[in-house]
Amino acid sequence: MPSTMTREALLAQAGDWFDTGHLQRDIARRVAWRTESDKGAPEPVLGAYLNDEIVPTLTRLGFVCEVLENPDPKGGPMLVARRIESEALPTLLSYGHGDVVSGQDKQWREGLSPWQLVAEGTGASERWYGRGTADNKGQHSINFSALQHVITARSGHLGYNITLLLEMGEEAGSPGLRALCERERDNGQGRLRADVFIASDGPRVHADKPTVFLGSRGLVNFSLRVHSRDRAYHSGNWGGVLTNPGIVLAHAIATMVDAHGKLLIDGLRPSAVSPSVRRALDGVEMGGGADDPQTNPAWGEPGLSTAERLVAWNTLEVLALGAGSAERPINAIPPAAVAHCQLRFVPGTPWQQLQDTVRAHLDAHGFTEVAVNVTAASPATRLDVDNPWVTWAVQSMAISTGKPVTVLPNLAGSLPNDVFADVLGLPTLWVPHSYPACSQHAPNEHLLASVAREGLCAMAGIFWDLGAPQGLPWHDSLPV
Ligand SMILES: [Zn+2]
Repeated sequence: MPSTMTREALLAQAGDWFDTGHLQRDIARRVAWRTESDKGAPEPVLGAYLNDEIVPTLTRLGFVCEVLENPDPKGGPMLVARRIESEALPTLLSYGHGDVVSGQDKQWREGLSPWQLVAEGTGASERWYGRGTADNKGQHSINFSALQHVITARSGHLGYNITLLLEMGEEAGSPGLRALCERERDNGQGRLRADVFIASDGPRVHADKPTVFLGSRGLVNFSLRVHSRDRAYHSGNWGGVLTNPGIVLAHAIATMVDAHGKLLIDGLRPSAVSPSVRRALDGVEMGGGADDPQTNPAWGEPGLSTAERLVAWNTLEVLALGAGSAERPINAIPPAAVAHCQLRFVPGTPWQQLQDTVRAHLDAHGFTEVAVNVTAASPATRLDVDNPWVTWAVQSMAISTGKPVTVLPNLAGSLPNDVFADVLGLPTLWVPHSYPACSQHAPNEHLLASVAREGLCAMAGIFWDLGAPQGLPWHDSLPV
């Protein structure tokens, strides 16, 4: 009797369904769509993935699907799927992306291909290889399957509405996503009106640690350039009397970040790690996986843990550095030098003023000839770790997985979360089903089967618990 099913029976059923290969078959079919979005212009396959693969699945689950044209011609179409039980009920907004990065077909290990799911290993080491298994086809497939089980268990009545937004351009920088959300917020049609946001992308902190993260660090990419003259001059004829732009630039960078990676620009440093963030990160270990690099405890801001330096602090990186020809040096003073830099930052950083802040810093240190130019930026977002939704999600996931749940105030990397947090004004929770060594964006991308199974149960628990008639944070904000 589906309507009298218990939460335990639901999770057991979802686990059985996983064990009989159903989820793997769904993901395999989706991996076979070559939905690369980073080729410069959107291709028809992006729309086909939505229309021919996702819309039929969601229609069966009771969603009304609209494939919308991207307001930005550089981006593929977007799917808005709505499952409305009653306008009076609260609404969950979820998100995923069906596009993937370049397949890099020739670089995969022998026997693997980006466009065919290959399962290898057993137990905790079972891996499902294929482009998008981790980022993001596997993750949205897990969530659709979890939802399907809850809808069946509840005889079609969830007790809340769900809207799904699926984009096809995340790997191309989400063109049009912000514009679409702003339009839908303002046009009075209410397509994306919701009360909470829960979605899945990115990695857990560790394969066996269920994780929820609440936002992401932001980034600003910028270049520093010193143009001393239009051509190189022989160092024997002129060395000693011509300014060397490479040396000037190296010294300029040294005023911005010290020899141990500590950020030195006052206006770009966080004031402190807040007590609630510190509490959330207490005991959280980052890295240490077989494929992870060796981290340096003495790099970055002194006095912070690894997790605090990654998640709760700002870092300035030099991504690329150039003067003269590094591959084939000649005896000449180079005419110019460039450094491509990046600031990763936490919420509260005045990143909008970065160009002016860096300019003033360089001027104050006598480097007026170093030009600063911001090339790309995305904001930082973070739901307060003390928000009642966080406590609720942690409890739900702990019951479903039987494990303690790690709360990351934000991902160290970036996601288009500002669109949901700032444009749509929603509390944002991310429940990732991947893990740090998944090789996302690289050859041999894979999903760990054990994490996928646990993620399926965690999401089924979340979709189930959201239907509780009272006690959820959204009941506090709704008219009774
Ligand atoms: Zn990605």
